[in-house]
Amino acid sequence: MTRVDAWTGAAPLAVRGRPRRLVPMVLGFEPIREDVSIRGGSAFRHLMEPVTAAAVVYDEGWILLDGGFDPDRVRDPVRRAASFDYEGYTPIVPQGDPLVDQVAEAGLQWGDLAGAAISHAHFDHTGAARLLDDDQPLLLQRREWQHVCEAPSERAAFLFRADFDHPRLRIGLLDGDTSLAPGVDAIDTAGHTPGHQSFVVRLAGESIVLAGDAADLRANIDQRAPTGSVADPVDDAAAQRAVDRLTALDARADTVVWPSHDPEWEPWQRTIRRR
Ligand SMILES: [Zn+2]
Repeated sequence: MTRVDAWTGAAPLAVRGRPRRLVPMVLGFEPIREDVSIRGGSAFRHLMEPVTAAAVVYDEGWILLDGGFDPDRVRDPVRRAASFDYEGYTPIVPQGDPLVDQVAEAGLQWGDLAGAAISHAHFDHTGAARLLDDDQPLLLQRREWQHVCEAPSERAAFLFRADFDHPRLRIGLLDGDTSLAPGVDAIDTAGHTPGHQSFVVRLAGESIVLAGDAADLRANIDQRAPTGSVADPVDDAAAQRAVDRLTALDARADTVVWPSHDPEWEPWQRTIRRR
């Protein structure tokens, strides 16, 4: 049975030192209508968007931010048909287990993982929960967890409660902006989902903000245009506030915001080209 604690019960994460590098990972692909990713986008055009995650590597230990799909849900024909029944949508997971494979290629050990945080509970971000042990908490906003527990329809909310249902899984709930570990902060960017969060990673000389789906595309930042996808129309204003917050961070000379699903974004491209 999954255990759910406040962040204070999950903290501190077992890392030592400072964040030394950030490892971009591409865990899958999905066709997304442009106006879903950016308000005002085309309802005709579809982008083949990468599903991304990142590892933050410390002197000792590392943290996983987001986690892609559960590959078994995508590959098992029965589960796939039951899970991804949406017009114009199909989840794609490349061969192998992209998360496990890319963690190994980065020279990281699962046993050194201190914990994972997800931007939000959509099914293209929750796939890592299956791999976590009881000393590796999964961190998300309390409002997001309430949304997971209370959403009337998993299908309409694009999430699977079963992704969070593992005997060894321990969930830690955050309330707004929270320092997760030295040099890594979660920041409130609710809108796309009720408890969406982004992550600020302070490396030597540069800060990287992992926007999550508050900015699927770089154009969300460059045009200050919010996501076109909110759980409820009342969240439109929050989605605008979220992208405004990210745009303000991006304006800092030492900070760059990474969009989560942009096919053209260089760090994701670099990861794809290597394979
Ligand atoms: Zn996503």
